[in-house]
Amino acid sequence: MSLRVLLVEDDAELRRTLRDALALEGYELLTAASLSEGLALLAHAAGVHGGVAPADLVLLDLGLPDGEGEALLAALRRRHTLPLIVISARQADGQKIRLLDAGADDYLVKPFGIGELLARMRVALRHRGTVLRPAITLYQHGGLAVDLAARAVQRDGEPVHLTPTEFALLAALVRRAGAVATHRQLLADVWGAEHVEQTHYLRLYMGQLRAKLEAEPADPQLLLTEAGVGYRLVAPDD
Ligand code: CA
Repeated sequence: MSLRVLLVEDDAELRRTLRDALALEGYELLTAASLSEGLALLAHAAGVHGGVAPADLVLLDLGLPDGEGEALLAALRRRHTLPLIVISARQADGQKIRLLDAGADDYLVKPFGIGELLARMRVALRHRGTVLRPAITLYQHGGLAVDLAARAVQRDGEPVHLTPTEFALLAALVRRAGAVATHRQLLADVWGAEHVEQTHYLRLYMGQLRAKLEAEPADPQLLLTEAGVGYRLVAPDD
């Protein structure tokens, strides 16, 4: 199972950027655009799962439209010990020290590089003893070669051009290679949680992927249909 990250951030563009970057690393992202949404997610997790943490790690912005992110840190620390990293444009030492004392594991000043964020997340998770399994980012089987980090796809040694959506769908399948990916998982990964019912998107884009990647698109050998459930990318060569 992939690790879940709760991102509380009101900047829609940063949310999108982080969602794409974290998905590529195999993290599952839950997002909240305001303090009240973040608090609601925490309360929901507490109610539904009996106090189980809503995620494996929290990324928290401070300046939110309806209040201060600090309030969420306080609410979280009353129940949970999961790692939390503050992401904020504010860089006064006093503020950083206060948040670290209040239970934040780390503090990253915006703008930051994705590489640095990922490294700090790994450190925070390691300190909490969370086991990190490296995400599958390379796939090779039956003439298909995919390198997610390089965003490169080849068929029989020839580069294949995919649209961003086609690539995102292939990436979601590569990360689960060998296992069944359900319609809902794929729709949530590629189009977002609000589109999990739109299975016609999947049929359309799966058809496009097969046309580009399968020797005989009508008789797929790599991108298999699991009737009524989802799709499966055949397990890679070891
Ligand atoms: Ca903000």
